[in-house]
Amino acid sequence: MRIDILTLFPEMFENVLGHSILKIAREKALVQYKLFNIREYAENRRCVDDRPYGGGPGMVMKPEPIFNTVEAIERETDARCKKILLTPQGDRFSQSIARELAKEAHLMLICGHYEGFDDRVRTGLDAMELSIGDYVLSGGEIPAMVVVDAVVRLIPGVLGAPDSTDNESFSEGMLEYPQYTRPAEYRGMQVPPVLMSGNHQKIKEWQKTRAVERTSERRPDLLNKT
Ligand code: SAM
Repeated sequence: MRIDILTLFPEMFENVLGHSILKIAREKALVQYKLFNIREYAENRRCVDDRPYGGGPGMVMKPEPIFNTVEAIERETDARCKKILLTPQGDRFSQSIARELAKEAHLMLICGHYEGFDDRVRTGLDAMELSIGDYVLSGGEIPAMVVVDAVVRLIPGVLGAPDSTDNESFSEGMLEYPQYTRPAEYRGMQVPPVLMSGNHQKIKEWQKTRAVERTSERRPDLLNKT
């Protein structure tokens, strides 16, 4: 998969893309990240924002540097890439959207800043609009990192154990069962004996029951969806 990130702050991504699973995915040649500084595509003295028509606080991102960046990328690649605008007004990002995006060959993530995009960016680009939650961040960079991380770990071959995302929270419409590791006793707290019994059938039943219990306690809305 190729992932293009359009941003005014490409330096913010260096650390995140250069560590852990995102780095491993690149080293395995399963993903290629490309950062584009929107400022470099502005026609007028690298000016990327301006005051809002009608008044109001802050500055709005101009459409032309964003369209110029998108079109420059499209001229040298496959124009059918999946474009994503990061915006608090978009559809709520979820594990199921991440699974769908993980099947794409080419994603383009467009990060807003300041007071957000001139609305003609939204209406003029055939882009999916994604929000990472009901709160407002200063820019689309952190939301883009969230989307990239959630998607890349679902690309086949990225994680060491191919089935490690199967039982994760949200995969089967449930939260994951509780997990334990050594020691068997810590500060008087015991690991449930069934997990050390070696009886795989019983372990599976225990995990299923705990996953249902945990989901109904914490996120009953997930159970009602299935
Ligand atoms: N004025 C906009 C509004 O009220 O809808 C908010 C603009 S926000 C300060 C600047 C940029 O941060 C947005 O254009 C978007 O790219 C990004 N952003 C902020 N919160 C976000 C969220 N919850 N999900 C996705 N992107 C977000």
